[in-house]
Amino acid sequence: MVSIEFNKVTFSYQDGTEEPVFSDFDLSITAGEWVAIVGPSGSGKTTLLKLMKGLLQPQAGEIRINATVLAAGELNHLAACAFANPENQIVSPVVAEDVAFGLENMGLAPETIQVRVEEALRWVGLWERAAHFSHHLSGGEQQRLILAGALAQQKKCLLLDDPLCMVAGRSRTEILNLLKSIQAREPCTMVHTTHLLEEALLAERLVALENGTLVFDDSPGRFLQEKELVEQLGLEVPAIADLGEMLARRGLVEPGEVITLEQLLELLTVPGPKQDNEKE
Ligand code: ADP
Ligand code: MG
Repeated sequence: MVSIEFNKVTFSYQDGTEEPVFSDFDLSITAGEWVAIVGPSGSGKTTLLKLMKGLLQPQAGEIRINATVLAAGELNHLAACAFANPENQIVSPVVAEDVAFGLENMGLAPETIQVRVEEALRWVGLWERAAHFSHHLSGGEQQRLILAGALAQQKKCLLLDDPLCMVAGRSRTEILNLLKSIQAREPCTMVHTTHLLEEALLAERLVALENGTLVFDDSPGRFLQEKELVEQLGLEVPAIADLGEMLARRGLVEPGEVITLEQLLELLTVPGPKQDNEKE
């Protein structure tokens, strides 16, 4: 697994002539951690992932991957990456070939590639469309295709840039479930940026950015307690988390204990000692 450390990183676009996106930025991600990064549009989420991946180089400070200073493009063999705007990342006209492309670049045997392509496409629910034209897929399906490409690489680090940005409705739930199953199946270091609290609350750790500054770094449950900050960042609290807060106000759960559907279901299926309070 992969650890990622930012030490006093300063980065600005246009070879440093623009206003820095990050100044003296510190962040440390432990191997195997699942971190969600939230923040308004333009706060630096995508730039942060690109720095992690080595696609951009800081003008000052250093980025260490597994304690070694990262050189340009160096995380390529360790991390799989899926950025928002799928159309820029789909390289092949056929769905299955697009997933295979990344694996061919890794030099894998054709039989292994075949198995992994099928597995990844089934995982994201696109196997039936394996032979279809990639550009005939909807925006959400294209995003799932990019995700399949990253998953098929089975790397020790997964960097996902707003995986739900073009996905609505039922597909959204499917991708959220997919994120959960990734960690359950094969633990890896996972960092994903998102504009949706529903997605961020699934992670173990939530990092919030505002104008390139880290304004929060703790558990998702604690983040919800910071009501002013949540509002300031323009994030919408999911209905389940609201319900969890009502339960906490009545003393039925701890504050921040129930913020996801799983936690709510767990609470409902395990009859606990707090049943007496519920009759009030
Ligand atoms: P987010 O992903 O949170 O929306 P970004 O990382 O895309 O934020 O952007 C952070 C800042 O960097 C913004 O001010 C944005 O305008 C600027 N920026 C992003 N990409 C580029 C680029 N290629 N060239 C110049 N400025 C950029
Ligand atoms: Mg972005």
